[in-house]
Amino acid sequence: MALRGPGLVSEVESVCGLCPGACGLTVRLVDGLPVGLKGNPNHPLNRGGLCPVGLAGLDILYAPNRLRHPLRKHAQGEFRQVEWEEALGEISEKLKGIGTAENRGSAAMICGEPSSLFQDLAAQFMGWLGSPHLACTGQGNVLPFTLTQGLREVPAFDWSGADLVLSLGLDLFEDGPAPLHAASALIGARQTQDRARLLHAGSRCSLSASKADQFVAIHPGTHGALALGIAHVLVREGRYDSRFVTAHTYGFEDGRQDGEERLGFRRLLLERYYPDRVAQICGCPAAAIVRLARRFAQASRPLAIAGGEAAEGSNATCNIMAAHSLNALMGSFDKAGGVLNKPSIPLSPLPRVGGCDGEPSLFESAQGGGLLGTDPLEALSQAVSDGSPRLEVLFVIGDDPVGSRPGGSRVVQALRGIPTVIALTPFLDETCDEADWVLPTPVPLEQWEDATTPPFSALAVLGISRPVTGPLHSSRHAGDVLLDLSSRVAPEGASLPWGHYSDYLKDRLEGLSESGQGALISGSFEESWRRFLEDRGWRFRQHQGMDDFWSGILKQSGWWSPARPQGEGGQLFDTPSGRYEFFSQKLYRELLDRWGGLASSADAQQALGRARESLGLQGQVDELCLPHHEPPHLVGRGDLTLVPFRPITARGRLGTASAMVMEMFGHSVLSGWQPWAELSPETARRLDLEEGDLIGLQTISGQIEAEVRIRPGAASEAVHLPLGLGRIQAPGAETLKANPLNIVLDSRDPLSGALSLSSTRVQVRLVRRRPHGGPPPHLSGGEA
Ligand code: SF4
Repeated sequence: MALRGPGLVSEVESVCGLCPGACGLTVRLVDGLPVGLKGNPNHPLNRGGLCPVGLAGLDILYAPNRLRHPLRKHAQGEFRQVEWEEALGEISEKLKGIGTAENRGSAAMICGEPSSLFQDLAAQFMGWLGSPHLACTGQGNVLPFTLTQGLREVPAFDWSGADLVLSLGLDLFEDGPAPLHAASALIGARQTQDRARLLHAGSRCSLSASKADQFVAIHPGTHGALALGIAHVLVREGRYDSRFVTAHTYGFEDGRQDGEERLGFRRLLLERYYPDRVAQICGCPAAAIVRLARRFAQASRPLAIAGGEAAEGSNATCNIMAAHSLNALMGSFDKAGGVLNKPSIPLSPLPRVGGCDGEPSLFESAQGGGLLGTDPLEALSQAVSDGSPRLEVLFVIGDDPVGSRPGGSRVVQALRGIPTVIALTPFLDETCDEADWVLPTPVPLEQWEDATTPPFSALAVLGISRPVTGPLHSSRHAGDVLLDLSSRVAPEGASLPWGHYSDYLKDRLEGLSESGQGALISGSFEESWRRFLEDRGWRFRQHQGMDDFWSGILKQSGWWSPARPQGEGGQLFDTPSGRYEFFSQKLYRELLDRWGGLASSADAQQALGRARESLGLQGQVDELCLPHHEPPHLVGRGDLTLVPFRPITARGRLGTASAMVMEMFGHSVLSGWQPWAELSPETARRLDLEEGDLIGLQTISGQIEAEVRIRPGAASEAVHLPLGLGRIQAPGAETLKANPLNIVLDSRDPLSGALSLSSTRVQVRLVRRRPHGGPPPHLSGGEA
């Protein structure tokens, strides 16, 4: 008979770590074994909530298909199990050759870990190796904020302080950066008088749409046009913040640029984006645009945010610039409920290592696909095919570049051109097939976990926790692997200065302890009292020295601090004019520099015309540098546009390794495990399709099959497919052939270089009718 423990029950605070959402967990243990998870009610982001992926943390911990040992690929292409000592010994021998002068810069790393603390360590490791080639993926599209605000990172959007949020394409509650934070701010407060109103526009009736006070269905890729239609009404009716626009913006009125007349944003709006025209572009009633605009204008703290499908098309940068222009018109900057500087975490600075400061990274090369931005994987493909720089070793940590993005076959070609590819992951994925070494990493509950501020968040958050249980398999934290390699390769005293990842974390947190800023995560009364005092200028320490702070932060599992307005809005704008730029001078300069034309104003116009043609833009020449509607560049043939979306069950990289998550995958349409395609009732009628029919969706890249789900509210020329299915890490994956990424065709945002997910036309054909007489698999309208 198996021995049983005394059945001692305990609870510890921890960090979810399964997506960038950075939620806090409470783990229930029996005799030290994790047996249950719930949200930490004191955590400022999730306030006790957990999404289905977070709830499946134990399923992921105990998953039978986890990697159990390091693997090495042999000559015939098959993997064989090896010991850690052998793996790290051989890899470190390889790295010794990388440090030599002739091999400088021949190592690269793709890092998908969302924690900025881990990214800093990855940068230290690459600097120590003498290579600038580090790509931290999943950073979001910062270009619109660079062009309008001069920022190098995405700012914070204080939606919990706003009284009205206009979401253009972003499903805040499923696909948003912090869905549980958004849900507690916008749905949890539903019963209270002062709750924020939510307006949503998009091509799909998403969870955000179904919970919104007003939902406007629009054609895919027309979010920017809708924002400009709203802006037109605000300007025409004088319902904008004229004081802010006059004092803090550039390009609102007509003016001169390099001696040439320049169209102002006001005239652009009034002449070209009147509601009737915008209604035609978007496929929605003009009256709905006017109503959205008036509701937006009536709010005292309105906030507009674009994301999701609006930020994943070939016109993503233009869509986001157009949406952001609404914040500028309303002066929603540097104040509660507005756009704030991204809050920082005052960590200790890092020591200087290596000598590649200022050297260009291949991941930022001009060959990365866009005028002002790069797609790191495209840049990698180009570098490998050109042999410049010559790469010997590539680390892939916390990412699956082959299976998680369109164009996986190009990445496969690139990986095959690099002699040594090392993947660090808890589960086999598509990238592992192309790796020479696969090193198993732990999952969140069995490793030191750190989670930093989610994108767009107006709270600075650092979640941190020690392992809740020992490793179940022979795995090692990716940070420990990098530190171990450093100590094996470097001569005595020249390695990175930390023995373990936990030493590194403690070192970095000294700065936080010293700063006296923010607070440990705690109960709501302590938090409110502290906030009350801090708002009145108090700063005080909660702890006696670093050791006390360290034990406190581990016990409470984190620290947080709200972003605060810093004064006049000007601090947010690091542009050539020092203002918010409706007319982006950076974009103007770049276009002229690239296509010539500084000799005379006539040359400038011709250069802009050449730029427009070369980039495949369709906006008029005089509006290229202003927020404008750029029609989506659709590729392929077919009646419908493929618009993939991420259900909440597709959050993070590891969720689909859980049978529980797979069972819940299509919970809103009763379609666990199997792929489905959402069509509007009109489209289904036109194509003679019924709920539950099996259809094939075909592009020149291939075909996938999915069951029809009829969703009221969906745009009639779109077919929506969920992302996240068809990955090899999923249990039973051999039955799932429905990764929409496999049929997405190559199309990019010409400005940022980012791959477009929603620019592919598809042909739809009936494969099989729903079994005659069977019940419809779905009730009606999904979660709406
Ligand atoms: S998966 Fe992400 S959103 Fe879900 S509970 Fe974990 S951190 Fe939060």
